[in-house]
Amino acid sequence: MNSQPKLRILLTRHEIEGTITRLAGELNRDYQGKHPLLLGVLKGSFMFMADLIRRLDFPLEVEFIRLASYGRGRESSGRIKVVQGLRAPIRGRDVLVIEDIVDTGRTTSFLLDYLRRKRSASVKLCALTDKPSRRQVPVTIDYLGCTVPDKFIVGYGLDWDEKFRYLPDICFVEFED
Ligand code: 5GP
Ligand code: MG
Repeated sequence: MNSQPKLRILLTRHEIEGTITRLAGELNRDYQGKHPLLLGVLKGSFMFMADLIRRLDFPLEVEFIRLASYGRGRESSGRIKVVQGLRAPIRGRDVLVIEDIVDTGRTTSFLLDYLRRKRSASVKLCALTDKPSRRQVPVTIDYLGCTVPDKFIVGYGLDWDEKFRYLPDICFVEFED
């Protein structure tokens, strides 16, 4: 049987908008006079990136990277690889990683280490959501949107099996056993 999961709104589009306005204010304060590279982690961060950067008032560049963890399902396996790499050199650059969610922390911590090894001037992390109850690897989130409970969330770029990315609100999925 192919039953549809039930979706319940966790963060409305208005709450997301307010959160992004606050984050943009923090970034506008901290990145004045700099020219950072904003590095979105595909695919989940595309909508967040688009809404965030139009509120920023300093010169910046946009890049994307795509990572994959081996294995399938709802959890990252911990073995991460770069599927689509950086096109721009980042040595000496201020890099701001844009993430949709930090869950176990494995993906983000892999990426931050990878970027630091490339001798960027600075690497900071801006994450729209954080699920701290699931953390397995410590990650410092320099700019955090919202903390979310230990539920699987979709919408606003986040998918479940490539579905629901287009939803304007962030919802959680109620799985039926
Ligand atoms: P981590 O390596 O921190 O466990 O997980 C990172 C990735 O797992 C996220 O970038 C995201 O792609 C996926 N992920 C973790 N939790 C969720 C969730 O609640 N919803 C969705 N859609 N993806 C998640
Ligand atoms: Mg992600």
